[in-house]
Amino acid sequence: MRFGFDIDDTLINLREHAFHVYNRKLNKQIGLEQFQDLNKIPIHDLFGMTMEEGKLMWNTHREEIYYSACPPFPNAIEVLHELVRRGHEVYYITARTSEHCERTSSWLVQAGFPVKEGHFFCGMSDTQKVHIIQELELDYYFDDKPAVLETLTELSINIYAKDSSYNRHIDIPRIGCWNELIRLLPE
Ligand SMILES: [Mg+2]
Repeated sequence: MRFGFDIDDTLINLREHAFHVYNRKLNKQIGLEQFQDLNKIPIHDLFGMTMEEGKLMWNTHREEIYYSACPPFPNAIEVLHELVRRGHEVYYITARTSEHCERTSSWLVQAGFPVKEGHFFCGMSDTQKVHIIQELELDYYFDDKPAVLETLTELSINIYAKDSSYNRHIDIPRIGCWNELIRLLPE
């Protein structure tokens, strides 16, 4: 079968990683529980920033957020290797901008994810993901972002939300820990 995965906040814990970077850069000690309660994707509110200031903060530190040691979610790497071992195809579909595609692909390899030639797609908008998902004829696709998940509800493939505080209003099957993926597979 063919499995597609978003990367940021689906396979790797990027937003929380950014939250720690912000705390450090701004010399703040905002508690993790406040972050975990946030029911929207942007995190600048926690630091008392406006949307504009938040955007500037993100863009200024984007390199560090993307390419320092952002932790994968528990079991993500192992489970993707297990899929490959069982003969499945693993695809990555990320809306990171085109100037980050090459480095993101290398980062994934370095982090230990199985990345096959031609299985990494990058630089599309959120609303273009649906077309790639259809063209690849995926059987399963996983994403965290409501704006993406909402474009996929008509597809006749298995769509799962990677569970997060900001996507719980969407009525869709969800996955908490990556261990659960193996249980979804037919024996
Ligand atoms: Mg994402």
